[in-house]
Amino acid sequence: MTSCDVAVIGGGINGVGVAQAAAAAGYSVKLFERRGLASGTSSRSSKLIHGGLRYLESAQFSMVRESLHERRLLLKLAPDLVHLRRFFIPVYPATRRRPWQLRVGLSLYALLAGLHKETRFKRVPKKDWDSLDGLNTHDLQTVIRYFDAQTDDAALTRAVMRSAQELGAELFVPSEVFRIERHERGCTLHVQRDGAAHSIDARVVVNAAGPWVSEVASRFDPVIELPAMELVQGTHVLLPGRMEQGVYYVESPRDGRAVFVMPNREGVLVGTTERRFRADPDHPQASTAEKHYLFSVLRCYFPRFRALNYDDIIATTAGLRVLPAGSGHAFHRSREVMVPVDQPRRPTVVSICGGKVTTYRVTAGKVMARIAPSLPGRTARANTACLPLRGD
Ligand SMILES: Cc1cc2nc3c(=O)[nH]c(=O)nc-3n(C[C@H](O)[C@H](O)[C@H](O)COP(=O)(O)OP(=O)(O)OC[C@H]3O[C@@H](n4cnc5c(N)ncnc54)[C@H](O)[C@@H]3O)c2cc1C
Repeated sequence: MTSCDVAVIGGGINGVGVAQAAAAAGYSVKLFERRGLASGTSSRSSKLIHGGLRYLESAQFSMVRESLHERRLLLKLAPDLVHLRRFFIPVYPATRRRPWQLRVGLSLYALLAGLHKETRFKRVPKKDWDSLDGLNTHDLQTVIRYFDAQTDDAALTRAVMRSAQELGAELFVPSEVFRIERHERGCTLHVQRDGAAHSIDARVVVNAAGPWVSEVASRFDPVIELPAMELVQGTHVLLPGRMEQGVYYVESPRDGRAVFVMPNREGVLVGTTERRFRADPDHPQASTAEKHYLFSVLRCYFPRFRALNYDDIIATTAGLRVLPAGSGHAFHRSREVMVPVDQPRRPTVVSICGGKVTTYRVTAGKVMARIAPSLPGRTARANTACLPLRGD
């Protein structure tokens, strides 16, 4: 039987973020991942390191501000993993978000980001519209350009884990946590690894299992109660072609939702959709209706893709968001992460529900603040805000 201060279940961006923060704070850390690092949602995101312009519409100002702060930091810490990109918003007569609304939104976005050089936005002169990757210029009224950032979500996850390991954290993969006993001193985890069962004592357990957070909560004895949540599937399609100028932020003509058309190493990535998911989180799958939805957006804004059909799709990815349960459309639901604990004063279990790739350090900070009273004093080894992250 081995032991540690902090055991993390799940090697997605949130799990590795906690492993890095806990190791930096001087704690002994073990992270268990049952498949592979970033094998869950953290390789199926839109790969944007952004505040999320659209979240201003649902007044999630503090989340947007935090995210923009993290964007600036990650551009500095991970220059070969996080890249500043031009984003273009085309406006047509039927576009719901009018130019004045976009200007107000982008001014607020710039203000929340702290008015740095990457917060500048401007109208693209009409003479330059032809250079915009074949954007439909019929009835085009204006195009606004601003900046946000793109990453490789899986590579970023691996980089943060490497940083955690350099600070002493241990990674066990593939290792599935199948049962966790809670007791006065903390928890005992039972882990399946190399065909054998192993037991590990931990003062604190962090359930960072993403879409499996509820399933892992039910593996605790006694079980952990979590707030009501639901899973929402988001699909992307990867198509052949190139987007040379940047990312296009367009509105679905069907329901006005924001959809991104993005350059990607292997082609053009289009996404995302949002639909309630009630099946097994091991098997999210892009539906024909979702592909149809994304194709209709792409064809509307980029006529050169009208000749493509489903056979041309290079890859589809379907990822699952963990959102607070609610009756409204997922699009307007809070993206704030929740970090519920088993007991408020000296927690032994913290769960991570939701969050963003962009804010993994903020999430880790919230987790550390919750678990600090349950851990002994240790000497900090580093500050994650100053640790460079390197690509593979
Ligand atoms: C479609 C979509 C687009 C998104 N786009 C963006 C974006 O552009 N920018 C952004 O900032 N955020 C975005 N997000 C949000 C972001 O992707 C997620 O919040 C984030 O990836 C969640 O990471 P996680 O570590 O919590 O979960 P995951 O990455 O799913 O990791 C959980 C891990 O736990 C492991 N696990 C589960 N059970 C066990 C067990 N019993 N034992 C051991 N391991 C276990 C799994 O194998 C998995 O690897 C998007 C989300 C979706 C769905």
